[in-house]
Amino acid sequence: MATKLNEQVNNDTSQTGECPDVDLDLIAQGVRLILEGIGEDPARPGLQETPRRVAEMYAELTSGMREDPAQHVVPLPGDKHDEMVIVKDISIASMCEHHLAPFVGKCHIAYIPRDGRILGISKLARLAETFSRRLQLQERLTTDIANTLFEGLKPIGVMVVIEASHTCMTLRGVRKADAKTVTSAVLGGFRTDPRTRAEAMALITGKE
Ligand SMILES: [Zn+2]
Repeated sequence: MATKLNEQVNNDTSQTGECPDVDLDLIAQGVRLILEGIGEDPARPGLQETPRRVAEMYAELTSGMREDPAQHVVPLPGDKHDEMVIVKDISIASMCEHHLAPFVGKCHIAYIPRDGRILGISKLARLAETFSRRLQLQERLTTDIANTLFEGLKPIGVMVVIEASHTCMTLRGVRKADAKTVTSAVLGGFRTDPRTRAEAMALITGKE
C-alpha cells in the first residue's frame, strides 16, 4: 500500500491528462477503513461487497482523468457555419475535490466559429463529460472546457456557463437544498464585445 501511494506523488493529472490505472483494491481498502471509522462492521452481509462497489463507482466518476479531452475537439469535415452556436443543457455530473461529494448540473457552451469550423454537438457533450469525470472545482471545470475548446477549435470566441448544485452544500454544512452555483468562462470575441456576450447569455438563460 505504501508503494502505491509513493508512486502517485508526482502525478499532476489535471494538467497532463496522463494518469495511472485505477487501483480498485487500494480504494476498497480505504472504503473499509471509512466503514470501520464510522463504527460499522465491514464484514456484515450488507456491506461485504460495498468496498468493491464504491471502488468501481470512483473509477467511473474519475474516468475523465484517463482520457485526453483534446481528442473530442475535431472540427466536422465539410460542414461550415459562421454564426454563433449555442448548445444548452448538457447534463454534467462531477465530484468536488474538497469533499469527494458529487455535484450535478447543466453546462451551456456558446462559440462563434472562425473560418466556418464547427464541432459536432456530441463532441461538445463528450468534452464536458471528460472534464466532469475528474475531481473538480466548478470554476476549474468551466475554464478547462472553455480553454480546450478555444485552443482546439480556434473559434472567434467561447463562452461556457455551468449551473450546478453541490451535495457538499445541499446535504451537509449549510444545507441549502436549492442553492445553485453559476460559473462562467468567457474567451476571445465574447470577452471583447459586450453585445455578443449579452446576446449569448440571453440565449443561454432564456431571457431577452
Ligand atoms: Zn465540496
